[in-house]
Amino acid sequence: MNAVLTPLAGAVAVEVRPSTIHGEGVFALRSLPPGWRVGVYEGRRYGPEELRERPPEREMTYVFGLSDGTLIDAADGGNATRHINHSCEPNCQANEEMADDGELDIVIRTKRRIRAGEELSIDYRLDVGGDDPARYVCRCGSARCRGTMAL
Ligand SMILES: [Zn+2]
Repeated sequence: MNAVLTPLAGAVAVEVRPSTIHGEGVFALRSLPPGWRVGVYEGRRYGPEELRERPPEREMTYVFGLSDGTLIDAADGGNATRHINHSCEPNCQANEEMADDGELDIVIRTKRRIRAGEELSIDYRLDVGGDDPARYVCRCGSARCRGTMAL
């Protein structure tokens, strides 16, 4: 069964299915133009001061950090955008955009035209603190792969 990313204007344009990069990925079902809005990275928000309250046993797999220090954990209330895999040569980009309610959102948009069937990807640019970047192995397979999902 495939999860489908909603809501989108018009017909369903992407779907979640197994990826050769890692686990599940998000794939275009039709050609997507450059700058196309894939979706908002949703999930539970944690302010910098709330980090201690976060369940410690939970993995950091789906955590996205904003420039104002807010963290969005898509393991809790996330949508299909959390399945977008990392690539060192991505075809999508995650940007901070101000929503109508004044909240800062992470919006995923295509960087270039994407063919039907292509997997969507973003550069995670993981902030691993003092950790060894080699622990975050990248298998994106692009010619410019830097070997790690870390910055
Ligand atoms: Zn790579």
